[in-house]
Amino acid sequence: MIKENIEAVKKRMADAAARAGRTDEITLVAVTKNHPVEYMKEAAADGITDVGENRIQEALQKREAFPDNQLKWHLIGHLQTNKAKHGVACFDLIHSIDSEHLLRAVDKEAAKLGKVQDILLQVNVAREESKFGMDVEAFPAMCELAETLTHVRVQGLMCIAPNYEHIEDVRPVFRIAGALYEDMKSKFSDGQVRYLSMGMTHDFEIAIEEGANIVRVGTAIFGPRNY
Ligand SMILES: *Cc1c(COP(=O)(O)O)cnc(C)c1O
Repeated sequence: MIKENIEAVKKRMADAAARAGRTDEITLVAVTKNHPVEYMKEAAADGITDVGENRIQEALQKREAFPDNQLKWHLIGHLQTNKAKHGVACFDLIHSIDSEHLLRAVDKEAAKLGKVQDILLQVNVAREESKFGMDVEAFPAMCELAETLTHVRVQGLMCIAPNYEHIEDVRPVFRIAGALYEDMKSKFSDGQVRYLSMGMTHDFEIAIEEGANIVRVGTAIFGPRNY
């Protein structure tokens, strides 16, 4: 079932890219939170190379099941500053950097590990109270600060759209994120900024039409999560 689901998602991704006239690469991050390691192994056998997790503890445990580390691990959930150390130890790309405090903490922990941590800046484009992410106004200063830190490398922007009743309402949100991303590219050295992470099960096609090149899809691949 997972195999068929992955194929169906990839087909929908390709169709959305074609509608937008895109030929660049788009990464499918399989969101495996609350799903067992067996599902992850199956997905990996079916060609999934990137996995997304929300919680440090869960990811640390799951990583032990992949000793030769063939997957790229994405932290897509909120990171508490006091867990920055584990976030850096466990993840290849942290999508959820949303404050100066957290940015500095990640830089510090990465320095201790002798690592340059790849990160995305999470922007709360729609200003939802219930969501993490920085305000659009705070974004330029965060980009500037990140550039001065030597153990983080900003690779782009992450955005979560609100759960609107009418799905087309997400489009303007993604469009603003896309414009911020294009602007961001010009602020950093060539090629450093290359990921626009947006789109989940219910809205990834619109996200791709609006320029996303990382989509984070859980339910459409693994079915509903059991909490
Ligand atoms: C859980 C989660 C996803 C995946 O959501 P689905 O609707 O299951 O595809 C994507 N992004 C973030 C940030 C999440 O927390």
